[in-house]
Parts: sequence; structure tokens; C-alpha cells
Amino acid sequence: MEPGSDAERTGTVLMRGELTGQAGWDYAPAPESRDVVTLAGEYGLFIGGEFVPAASGRLLPTVNPATEETLAQVAEAGEADVDRAVAAARDAYERVWGPMPGAERAKYLYRIARLLQERSREFAVLESLDNGKPIKESRDVDVPLAAAHFFYHAGWADKLEHAGFGPSPRPLGVAGQVIPWNFPLLMAAWKLAPALAAGNTCVLKPAETTPLTALLLAEVCQQAGLPPGVVNVTTGAGSAGAALVAHPGVDKVAFTGSTEVGKQIQRAVAGTGKRLTLELGGKAANIVFDDAPVEAAVEGIVNGIFFNQGHVCCAGSRLLVQEPAADAVVGRLRDRLATLRLGDPLDKNTDIGAINSREQLGKIRELSDAGEAEGAERWSPPCELPGRGFWFPPTVFTGVSPSHRIAREEIFGPVLSVLTFRTPGEAVAKANNTPYGLSAGVWTEKGSRILWLAQRLRAGVVWANTYNRFDPASPFGGYRESGFGREGGRHGLGAYLDV
Ligand code: NAD
Repeated sequence: MEPGSDAERTGTVLMRGELTGQAGWDYAPAPESRDVVTLAGEYGLFIGGEFVPAASGRLLPTVNPATEETLAQVAEAGEADVDRAVAAARDAYERVWGPMPGAERAKYLYRIARLLQERSREFAVLESLDNGKPIKESRDVDVPLAAAHFFYHAGWADKLEHAGFGPSPRPLGVAGQVIPWNFPLLMAAWKLAPALAAGNTCVLKPAETTPLTALLLAEVCQQAGLPPGVVNVTTGAGSAGAALVAHPGVDKVAFTGSTEVGKQIQRAVAGTGKRLTLELGGKAANIVFDDAPVEAAVEGIVNGIFFNQGHVCCAGSRLLVQEPAADAVVGRLRDRLATLRLGDPLDKNTDIGAINSREQLGKIRELSDAGEAEGAERWSPPCELPGRGFWFPPTVFTGVSPSHRIAREEIFGPVLSVLTFRTPGEAVAKANNTPYGLSAGVWTEKGSRILWLAQRLRAGVVWANTYNRFDPASPFGGYRESGFGREGGRHGLGAYLDV
């Protein structure tokens, strides 16, 4: 990088298509202004419709992973705060939200959806600051999908009796919801919208590294005039999540996060009668047949594993490519990766942002080093990483065998493991050779082959000739160590009803 160059100023680094010998496009920096966001120095918990300090007075810093700058100090909830939040949610459920007609509840959900749209730039910039994801993803994916989730579920609120759950389906009561850091606002929307539409009240525990958009969403709830206590947000560490799921006043637990914590939660709620849905990890196969159009498949592979720095539970982290096509696909993939731009998440040209935390970066490095040590061949495009912040280049491993750790364990980073297969049967066997079962992708010209595979792949979602497509009307969820229960669509709604 030239000293004083645009790249140095913005932290955006262009990786050039050196394998093809073609220079990548040079883009002028196009940073989104962060002026649209007003950061408070300190944030309280959102309980009973107000922002309040934690009983202990304790705070946790939240950091911009692209610069390591502390963005704010956020209240750390303890057991007493969780207790207060659950009591507020119970009171709102019994007095206001539970008895309210669905058509009235819908108005609030529509209002929240419209406010999300109106304040979309603010949400997108804040999400990119707190999470490290590129602004074009927070702007074009996270925020619009979060609004779509509220719009979709607003439509259900007055039609629950027509949803196929019997003539008068009832809500469950108070929902305790714990979410991860990879899609902070979107996961909050996935949790809150169906719960509220079905008539439940909520206590939401955001991830410790990304609390800010959930707190802005709490502000939007205030702005929408949502009755106090219907939505409560208790920021804090894992212990706040543990206190929430164990609280006797919670009727339904919804968790998205790691398989390890999911298992702890399952043990904690066993025998309590609480309803539980778990959305956990994944190690998805993205299967490319030799008749697939290479260009389209390569775009799908890139989207599958490099979208959101690979911090995606359903990421296509194992590429299974049919042997005759392997060289062409991997060659084209390398050319494509050489054109991706890594750097400042607020730059509108950026394709790959920062890794969310130092801890996650350590995990990605450790597993990638293990891949090399076990004999796989590691490749990244030429790419200089910014000096500050948490960064990892897009990485492809070839020569991976199913026994390697990088083929078995969830890396949750921009790292692709390439394996090959010869027959459709072998593709199915290798794809299913994982304890997870969240998602899969199939790339082929043959419709009959897509259907044949979709019947045999043990994954909650199978994408055909596309990847990472989300829609609020479409249920999403896993099998086995990827969890159980569905979010989205009629199925997701059912998880919040006493049916
Ligand atoms: P994590 O399990 O460490 O944390 C998730 C949340 O749980 C955080 O809010 C955390 O504070 C809280 N938590 C930690 N310990 C807890 C406990 N004992 N009891 C209750 N809550 C506790 O996961 P993470 O590292 O934040 O997120 C990454 C993981 O999430 C990956 O494995 C990824 O695959 C998974 N994920 C799954 C989906 C899905 O829909 N299946 C979506 C996104 C992420």
C-alpha cells in the first residue's frame, strides 16, 4: 500500500487479479458517513419501556472490530435485572399484549417495520460499526430483511386462527430470547417479530460484542409507542443469557448461537415444561456438478462462504465439486477472489469486512493453521491487511480430506474447504458426513438431480442454483447438532403458539 494513498486512508485494500494477469478495478473510496449515528457514551438496559442502569452498575465495552475503537459502554445485566425484565414482560403480557386483539398488535409491528425503513441508514451504519460487516451488506441485506420480518409477521397477527393451528391458537406467554453477534439486528427481528405477532412478550439478550442495534431497536419500540414491557432488552455476557433461560417466569426459550451453548440450554430447560427452539451451528456442503454453469456457481460459492466474512451459520464452508470440473471451478474461484476488496466496512466498495472479535480471529487462525498442519493446501489472494483491527483474508483450502478438522468443524470465518466427488451418491455421502444439518447448496443443470439430492441431503434448507437466500415466509432451521425448530413462515409462527 502506498503511504498516504486512498487505500491507506480508508483502510480499503484492493486485491488484484494476479492469476489472470488482469488488474482489478480501481475504485475511489466511497465511505458512508457515520454522522447519521449518534453514539451515547453509555447505554442502559431496556426494561419496562425505559432505559435503566444495571443493578450492579456494571458496564461492558463494545468495540469497533475494524479499528479496535471502543464505541460505547453498555450495561451488563445480572440476575436481578433479568428478574426485573421478566416481571415487566409478564405484567405487559397479562395486562396489555396478551388480551389485545391481533389487528391492534399488527399496527405496532407495521409501525416498527416502517420505522426500521425510515431509519435504515442509521441502523446500517451502526451495524457495520459494531459488527464489522461491509455497509453494502448491512444496508442491502440485514436492515431490509429485518424490516421485512416485521412486515411479514404484522400480516399474521390478526390471522392466527387461519394459520392451520386450530380455531383459536393462544400465545405461550413470556419469551426469553438469546442471540449471537453475526446478524445482530436481523436475529433480533427473527426473534421478536413472530413472538409479538403471536401475542407473546419478550426479553431479548443480544450478544456481548454487538449490543448496539438491539438497543436502537428498543428505541424504535419506544418511538412506535409499543406498550412498556412488551419488549425488554437485557444486554450482557453469557451469564445474563443463562439467567434468562433458567428464569422460572419464562415460558418459551429461543436461542441462536453455538452448538455447545445450545446443549447447555437444552439441559437447563429439560423438565421445566418450557418450549425450546435452538438454531445452532453448521458445516454446509455446497455441491457443484460438472454440468453447472461455472460462472454462476462461482458467484454462489463466493456468496456462500465469503458473505459476512463467513460468520454465517448456514455458510457453504465445504465446497464439494465433481472431479471433472474441479480445476475449472477452483481456477475461476481464485480469479474471482482476487477481485474482492477487503477493508473499511463503511466503504461502499468493500466486499470483506472485519472479523467480529479478537477471540473469533484467534479461532479462525487456529483452525486454518490446523488445516495446513494436517496437509491441506492453503491459498489466499495477494492481500495486505489493515494494521489495526481484526482481519483475515479470504482463504481456500484444496486437497482437503473428510477427516481434516477444517472439513468437520465450524470455522465461522472466510475459509473454504474444497473436496471432490465422482458420483451423486458420493456427493450425498460426503455432504451428510457431518454432525450438523442446517443447509446445503446444489449446482446443476438437471432439475431431476436437484430433487433427488434434496430428498437425500440431511439439511433443513437446500438451495438449488443459488445460496444464502432468505425470506421471512420461508422456514429456516436445522437437524441434529444444528438444532431444532424453525424460524420464519407459518412453521416459525407455530413455535410461539400453544399448539
Ligand atoms: P455463543 O453460543 O457463544 O453465544 C450466543 C449467545 O448466547 C450470546 O448472546 C451469548 O452471550 C449467549 N450465551 C453464552 N453462554 C450462554 C449460556 N450458558 N446460556 C445462555 N446464553 C449464553 O455463539 P456466538 O459465538 O455468539 O455465535 C456463533 C454461533 O452461532 C455459531 O456456532 C453459529 O453457527 C451460530 N448461529 C446459528 C444460527 C442459526 O440460525 N442456526 C444463526 C447465527 C449463528
